[in-house]
Amino acid sequence: MTRKHVLVTGGSGFIAGHCILQLIEQGHRVRATLRSLDREGDVRAVLHDAGLQDDTALGFVAADLMRDDGWAGAMSGIDVVLHVASPVQPGHVEDENQLIAPAVDGTLRVLRTARDAGVGRVVLTSAFHAVSWGYRRDGRVFNDDDWTILDGPGVDAYGKSKTLAERAAWDFIASEGGTLELTSLLPVAVMGPVMGRDISGSNHIIQRLLTGAVPGLPNLYIPIVDVRDVAAAHVSAMTAPQAAGQRFLISNGVPLSMKQIADTLREALGASAERVPTRTIPDLVLRLSAVFNRQVRPYVADLGYVKKTTNDKARRLLGWTPRPPREAIIAAGDSMVRKGLIPDG
Ligand code: NAP
Repeated sequence: MTRKHVLVTGGSGFIAGHCILQLIEQGHRVRATLRSLDREGDVRAVLHDAGLQDDTALGFVAADLMRDDGWAGAMSGIDVVLHVASPVQPGHVEDENQLIAPAVDGTLRVLRTARDAGVGRVVLTSAFHAVSWGYRRDGRVFNDDDWTILDGPGVDAYGKSKTLAERAAWDFIASEGGTLELTSLLPVAVMGPVMGRDISGSNHIIQRLLTGAVPGLPNLYIPIVDVRDVAAAHVSAMTAPQAAGQRFLISNGVPLSMKQIADTLREALGASAERVPTRTIPDLVLRLSAVFNRQVRPYVADLGYVKKTTNDKARRLLGWTPRPPREAIIAAGDSMVRKGLIPDG
């Protein structure tokens, strides 16, 4: 395997951290962006705590998705970019542009500077939010060619940010990308071992269950993938020749109900899972609470909806073999308990 010089954007993040661990373990050199280099020491400490042995192949540069400063230097000598950074805030936000601007403008900034620096390929971390929102329930199996319908039901600002950013990326590559290649990855809900003490994205579901922050279990089905498998998909996508110009749904089997997730936590974590609710929340109660609570509103469109997905393309072209979602749930919960992120009862 050829050793690559890889730029990972958003080195402080959950998925980016797991990508950095696997890249270094496999002999690549990594440069990671942070909004401020003041965080470098903390991020190195988090990565060491997560298993990084030797960090001599790891460097950091300052770059913000909203500003040009730093990006040209960050790209210098880089073979591949994993563009992972983006604001992650599903649900209601006061100002949609807080998510959309960094996602879209940041992605274009990364692509433009990558092209100008002669980078070979950008692997973009898009999301299932760019695939499956806004559809009527017709029993379809979502695949790598599907796109979220922006004016359909249940599309939140985060979904818009991911869809618009990925659309902008493909448009850029088609019109002015030159020889730069693009691959996009579309992970479903990403769970697994927490990086440091920050709980990101879908791991919040596990934390809210373990802390008893939710009064009951809504009738929702969550498609889950393990963060270690998401990182592995990024590493494969950066070199697999046939991945250029492709979107890959990074999903894993049938979505699990909130009840199945809760049962898994109780079985695996025993006393540490004693606050996990057992009762279910009737759909009507959730619908009524959505009238007053804007945070709940986006979930109403998905009540009882089992979104089927296929991961055939990622298995075939990336040689990707994800572990069962149960392992991601247990690893997430276990890491939260070990790090003291779940207060004792
Ligand atoms: P995360 O831990 O919150 O990481 C997000 C990263 O983006 C952080 O490093 C953050 O930096 C950076 N970032 C945000 N705004 C920025 C800005 N204006 N300039 C520079 N950096 C900025 O989230 P994650 O779960 O790892 O998500 C990473 C990627 O995966 C995102 O693109 C997300 O949409 C995608 N994804 C996540 C999931 C999931 O379930 N977690 C599922 C599908 C797709 P700071 O630390 O400075 O804030």
